[in-house]
Amino acid sequence: MRTRARFQAGPDISETRRANLRSMSNPTQKIALVTGANRGIGLETARQLGQRGVTVIAAARDQVKAQQAAGALQAEGISAVGLKLDVTSTADIQAAARFTEERFGRLDILVNNAGIFAEAHFGGNNSTTVTQAELRRTFDTNFFAVIELTQALLPMLGRSPAGRIVNLSSILGSLTLHAMPDSPIASARNLAYNSSKTALNAFTIHLADALKGTHIRVNSAHPGWVKTALGGEAAPMEIVDGAKTSVALALAEDAPNGSYSHLGAPLPW
Ligand code: NAP
Repeated sequence: MRTRARFQAGPDISETRRANLRSMSNPTQKIALVTGANRGIGLETARQLGQRGVTVIAAARDQVKAQQAAGALQAEGISAVGLKLDVTSTADIQAAARFTEERFGRLDILVNNAGIFAEAHFGGNNSTTVTQAELRRTFDTNFFAVIELTQALLPMLGRSPAGRIVNLSSILGSLTLHAMPDSPIASARNLAYNSSKTALNAFTIHLADALKGTHIRVNSAHPGWVKTALGGEAAPMEIVDGAKTSVALALAEDAPNGSYSHLGAPLPW
């Protein structure tokens, strides 16, 4: 009796949960995994993808925050599941791949959004003072983790008819702009953060080449200078607009491959 009750869709299962269950068995519904989806641009990216009918795996390094993010999205009518994923943890990455495989069997969109700014101060030029600890911590999250997670999920992205990978880069990763004598980003030469995004851009270009001839597209997105914990209060862009570049690249039927852009405008590498 007890066992039967467990498998019956009783009146205690909400409509949102039923929608989730339907989407999980619907092969035409897109599935997206967004890292760092508990706040900032990541949460908003998950929301905007969900509003467009995508089932979202809201990944966050803290289990409780992941479930809270998924719960908040579900309350808005979005099909979402929470997933604990510290992107610097190999065990979490392997568990995320198993979870996605077992629950959905494929992945259509991966948004590598989680990122950190680990330097003591923003702005100026810290090339002569940046510490090894700042460099390594930054690269662990912003570069090495992205490659490990992407490689773990590539087989499932390959099963999508139109796999999309969006790497959250930054205009601060542009070597071309930093090399200009009057660079518009000269006031922010934070070596660890900036070079981690330059390296991430290298991954975008190299992976795009490796994926030539497949249905997968990979691109770097600069969200803009956005009012988040990372961007700070002085940032001119609201979070709702900061998610738009990622969402557009994630959903575009005719997405480019190996591009670096902000709101559709190309950026110099
Ligand atoms: P944010 O509000 O500080 O959020 C960062 C997110 O990344 C949080 O969810 C954080 O989780 C997560 N995260 C950090 N380390 C993680 C780890 N090891 N595992 C899993 N999640 C981790 O920053 P944001 O402004 O939304 O930034 C999102 C992305 O956009 C970043 O890659 C950033 O570099 C890029 N970006 C932002 C701006 C801007 O102006 N805001 C500009 C250019 C690029 P916790 O809550 O657990 O810390």
